[in-house]
Amino acid sequence: MTTTWVDTPNDATPDRTGDGTAPASSAGQTLRIERENHKLEKRLCRLTGQAIVEHNMIGEGDKVMVCLSGGKDSYGLLDILLKLQARAPVNFELVAVNLDQKQPGFPEHILPEYLTQLGVPFHIENQDTYSIVRDKIAPGKTMCSLCSRLRRGILYRVASELGATKIALGHHRDDILATLMLNMFFGGKLKGMPPKLVSDDGRHTVIRPLAYVAEKDLIRWAQVKDFPIIPCSLCGSQENLQRKQVGIMLKEWEKKFPGRLDNMLHALQNVVPSHLMDRQLFPFETLVPTGVASDEGDKAFDADDLPEPTTAFAKLPTLQVIQLMPN
Ligand code: SF4
Repeated sequence: MTTTWVDTPNDATPDRTGDGTAPASSAGQTLRIERENHKLEKRLCRLTGQAIVEHNMIGEGDKVMVCLSGGKDSYGLLDILLKLQARAPVNFELVAVNLDQKQPGFPEHILPEYLTQLGVPFHIENQDTYSIVRDKIAPGKTMCSLCSRLRRGILYRVASELGATKIALGHHRDDILATLMLNMFFGGKLKGMPPKLVSDDGRHTVIRPLAYVAEKDLIRWAQVKDFPIIPCSLCGSQENLQRKQVGIMLKEWEKKFPGRLDNMLHALQNVVPSHLMDRQLFPFETLVPTGVASDEGDKAFDADDLPEPTTAFAKLPTLQVIQLMPN
């Protein structure tokens, strides 16, 4: 049997009715849902496997520490990595780690029970960062940046103690795009969220295997698998308003123009420094004609060749001309 990270790119599953038509009964409905779930599972595994391969995220003998918060994304990450572990061409270990930050009402039994049932090695790190953050941050101010900094330091220490060679986080495509937008709008930088990086202490490799996965797929997968989700609002901190607004904007774009978010993700993989304005990336100061024609050269006077509008554009209502009547 051959093993592979990336399954066949074809998500289609055979039509089990045999005649190309969907069964009309409720059994048919169940079959249709099963088929959709199967397609979703294949897509999640394929995109995650692809991100792992393309960024060389996991190699032979790696011990991958999966950071499990109890949210849909980290449950999805662990679940998909377990599936890939069974068929990957390399051997690697998984260890799930949860940091119990001692937020009031944190249901501490949920993750140990879930992980024991799953048979996955795990470690729960108990650290009361909640009290530290509460002490240091004035009421009403956002606690997230100090909280995240503390959490990061603890997780790096735990990774060292466990002998983990990779730290896997559950950020997905939509997180990456939202970060890109936020950095453009508020940070003056063209900067997203890398699929693989070296930690700021220089000692760990951090990976984001869900970098190509859409959030809506993870939401759906959490429903399919009925993950025991732990709400993330226990700390009482307000969600970052700007991130929330950017998230809504991205969702609305995707609704109006399906495929736009995937296109944006592809744009991050297809950067043309000569057509941006970063003098560190392209030597504009020393740029001179070479005298050699190039198909890749800029056609400075022509409009960009953009693809034809998709059907989503075609479906947009035509402009209505409203004639204003004089009173
Ligand atoms: S939402 Fe709460 S737990 Fe999450 S980073 Fe912010 S302060 Fe920390």
